[in-house]
Amino acid sequence: MESTLEPAATIGHVIDLECLICGRRFRPDEVDYLCPDHGDDGILDVTYDHERIARDLSPASLALDHDHSMWRYRPLLPIASASTVPPLRVGGTPLYPAPRLGADLGLPHLWVKDEGVQPTGSLKDRASAVAVVKAQERGARVVTTASTGNAAAALAGVAASVDQPVVIFVPATAPEAKVAQLLAYGATVVLVEGSYGDAFELSMRAADRFGWYVRNTGVNPYMSEGKKTAAFEIAEQLGWHVPDVLTVGVGDGCIIGGLHKGFRDLLALGWTDRMPRLIGVQAEGSDYLAEAWEGDVDVVTKPGIDAHTVADSISAGRPADRIKAMRAVRDTGGAFVRVSDQQILAAVPELARGCGVFAEPAAAAAYAGLRVAVDQRLVTADDRIVVLATGTGLKDVPSAMRSISDAGIAPLRVPPDLDAVADALATHRPIER
Ligand SMILES: *Cc1c(COP(=O)(O)O)cnc(C)c1O
Ligand SMILES: [Zn+2]
Repeated sequence: MESTLEPAATIGHVIDLECLICGRRFRPDEVDYLCPDHGDDGILDVTYDHERIARDLSPASLALDHDHSMWRYRPLLPIASASTVPPLRVGGTPLYPAPRLGADLGLPHLWVKDEGVQPTGSLKDRASAVAVVKAQERGARVVTTASTGNAAAALAGVAASVDQPVVIFVPATAPEAKVAQLLAYGATVVLVEGSYGDAFELSMRAADRFGWYVRNTGVNPYMSEGKKTAAFEIAEQLGWHVPDVLTVGVGDGCIIGGLHKGFRDLLALGWTDRMPRLIGVQAEGSDYLAEAWEGDVDVVTKPGIDAHTVADSISAGRPADRIKAMRAVRDTGGAFVRVSDQQILAAVPELARGCGVFAEPAAAAAYAGLRVAVDQRLVTADDRIVVLATGTGLKDVPSAMRSISDAGIAPLRVPPDLDAVADALATHRPIER
């Protein structure tokens, strides 16, 4: 059965969609995903009428709002005023002061934002929530994506909360545990006998043929809009005093691009007076953007690399949102840094014991990268710094187990005898942080 999407109507305070390569502007009903002139590279940026937004929303009105989900920033989001939003509580994640963790690094002003408490366990829920609303605005029977990771889980989870059918294309080699989460949420999972690229291609062609809505990162211009709500929360949680530095693990570059967008929105509204320096942390084995940054290479033409890292959520050979990611770092005076898999794994227990946030490797990478940034003098003790912990450690238990065995951490072993417990405790030396 074929169907087509309904035309996009006026969407909130959105003005238009601007191509990041040629600057051409489109009304939201003129184009669904990319600028037609540049294939997959023609990524669009959503522009807003900030004067009108300021009539609907202010720091004072927000202070009175009891909705602590991401929808408290609704006038800043690309959704129609008549749209209903999913019931699953996305956003409103805690920003924890982390003085002990900071003391280790000589950084007295450190916070950790824990995205692991999102409904499906990662920051991706913010984007998928927007995708589901957009799909429903367009009357889409089905939402589709190609992913094995947190984006697919987020789409499947948020869609399940509103009974929205989804079809997810994954390479047949995808880990069974990840596929299980998708199936549990009721997603239709298509195992493609081919590469991730083949799965992606098939999702795009199926969407075209069957009139489905596409959630793919980079392709869909609204995904970074959902992710920008993390920036709004950070600013609001710090009393609208934006931090000096923010570190985040970077794969496709959608999150860092979204953070940049969020802080730019706040500056345009006049609610904040500056931008944080955005530091993107990449794995050594997946360092496309770090390479481009160091060599000042054009990411539109730079060919992909062979990516492999223990931090699967930041593994990206040719980052889908590389244009937004480069711009985020360049425009804020930030940087890209690299961390080894060993540094990433070491960061998992360091972060967990340093502030109580148990993160998956891609999320712990943000902390590992902060260490590198300290060594490279990209940050100083005066800086107010936020580490964005993008996803929960429960997403990848095998890596967590590797990280504690690498760190030489082990349980005590005793016979069922209280004196034996006393002896074991007496000789036990907790691992130094
Ligand atoms: C997706 C993801 C990232 C990286 O986000 P990009 O937009 O791909 O750069 C980092 N951490 C976690 C946990 C993720 O799921
Ligand atoms: Zn263009």
